[in-house]
Amino acid sequence: MVHAPARPPAGAPPVRINLYSDTQTRPSPGMKDAILRAEVGDEQHGDDPTVNALTDRMAALLGKEAAIFLPSGTMCNVIAILTHCRKGDEVVAHETSHILHSEGGTHAALTGVQIMPLRGPKGMFTADDVRAAIRPKTRYAPPQRLLEVEQTANIGGGAVWPLAQLNAVADVAHGQGWSTHMDGARLMNACVAAGIPAAEMAAGFDSVWLDFTKGLGAPLGAVLAGSEDFIGEAWRWKQRLGGSMRQAGVCAAACLYALDHNIDRLADDHANAKALARGLAQIPGFVVEEPETNLVFFDPRGAGITVADLSAALRLQGIQISGLGGRMRACTHLDVSAAMIEEAIAAIRDVVAKR
Ligand SMILES: *Cc1c(COP(=O)(O)O)cnc(C)c1O
Repeated sequence: MVHAPARPPAGAPPVRINLYSDTQTRPSPGMKDAILRAEVGDEQHGDDPTVNALTDRMAALLGKEAAIFLPSGTMCNVIAILTHCRKGDEVVAHETSHILHSEGGTHAALTGVQIMPLRGPKGMFTADDVRAAIRPKTRYAPPQRLLEVEQTANIGGGAVWPLAQLNAVADVAHGQGWSTHMDGARLMNACVAAGIPAAEMAAGFDSVWLDFTKGLGAPLGAVLAGSEDFIGEAWRWKQRLGGSMRQAGVCAAACLYALDHNIDRLADDHANAKALARGLAQIPGFVVEEPETNLVFFDPRGAGITVADLSAALRLQGIQISGLGGRMRACTHLDVSAAMIEEAIAAIRDVVAKR
């Protein structure tokens, strides 16, 4: 049985305030205009000028030699792992990582690597944790090949890895001859929050990618960057997996628009997340994690309401928030205004008061 996403309950109104995910944004009028005006060509022949402009710009932004345009962030992780590793290799990553939990078991199904899960607060681990995970280089142990981090750490609460900690874990990995990979689905949120350029954040990592369908507000697309050799090999996997496209400039145009218009404004999403966290923290019994970027995790159970009941009651008012285990995750993005945050806080307070 393959599960489809849950449908809204019968009688639920359309979603007015969508805190479910930053993947839910719709292309803005300006972005649609850029899509309409895109110059296009055959992407898999290297002939799409808009895709080429995007990959050149992304290689520079991420401080790498080359970059490749892919349909999704998941494909960036899959292709990066296929390129860095061989079957039977081990990838060292946090126990909450997207590659472990949210890619449909692809690393068992397709890449053939095993993932060693590391513990640590907020989706992060330390250089000592990596040192403790080093296996002897014998024929009994799986060959360790890659260290992976998420910046920001999603299930870690949208937390931002400090630059020094990123560099420290990457140094340990490189000291062992491993490669390093950064899942930068929300890298620009980290860069805006910390005031650190993306190239600096990614300097210790052999490969890094950025998602355009999260806070940047494009309908699809992600860009993976690395050395010329790495990207050359990534192209082979893109072709093999059916990720080579044709007139993909219509999509790349939206991404270029996002780079021009939707990065600095991530600070607004972070301010909205903080306002939401402050409002929720005033509801007696709620446990709210302090947001660093655009994700607000909270546990309503201390107020005597389950995650499922609160989600369902809010959905009937056109407010969507996701539940992840015992926590709820509210995500701010460019289709969520400060006024909507106030409205959501009032609605949640009301549901709790009336339960
Ligand atoms: C969303 C996400 C991905 C996958 O990106 P898609 O574009 O949805 O395939 C990977 N890693 C993290 C941390 C994410 O949040």
